Amino acid sequence: MKKIIERLRKKGLKPTSQRIAVLQNLTGRRDHPTAGDIYNDVAKKHPTISKATVYSTLKLLSEYGEVQELSIRKMGEACFDPVLELHHHFLCRECGRIIDVYTECRDECVIIKAGEAGGNVVEEVQAYMYGLCSDCVKKNNYLKKM
Ligand SMILES: [Zn+2]
Ligand SMILES: [Zn+2]
Repeated sequence: MKKIIERLRKKGLKPTSQRIAVLQNLTGRRDHPTAGDIYNDVAKKHPTISKATVYSTLKLLSEYGEVQELSIRKMGEACFDPVLELHHHFLCRECGRIIDVYTECRDECVIIKAGEAGGNVVEEVQAYMYGLCSDCVKKNNYLKKM
């Protein structure tokens, strides 16, 4: 809690109770919740908070680099990640889970191998992968069907 207040202050953001609640909820989560998921949780403790406030707080926190908003959509909704270090995301089309993927393929990656793409210097690549997660593969016996 104290750490969260410090983080906000360092960015020049007023540590309002809503910002603290949203950041506190998101910290440590690896499930890439949507604004709605976070709202449902936060509203249990803070019944007066609105979904719009949660959403604008998340937008603000991502602008200030405290969380990252993923371009990948969970059932059409934006989702958020408190983990700021570079990693990739895998979306399961069956259960909708978004799973973190860490790869060290920078040197082998054909896309960024040259260090540039059409004259543009590539500094970072974030991949979004789509498919079936290992749980759903097991559940559906997917591999056997192939
Ligand atoms: Zn799945
Ligand atoms: Zn992630």
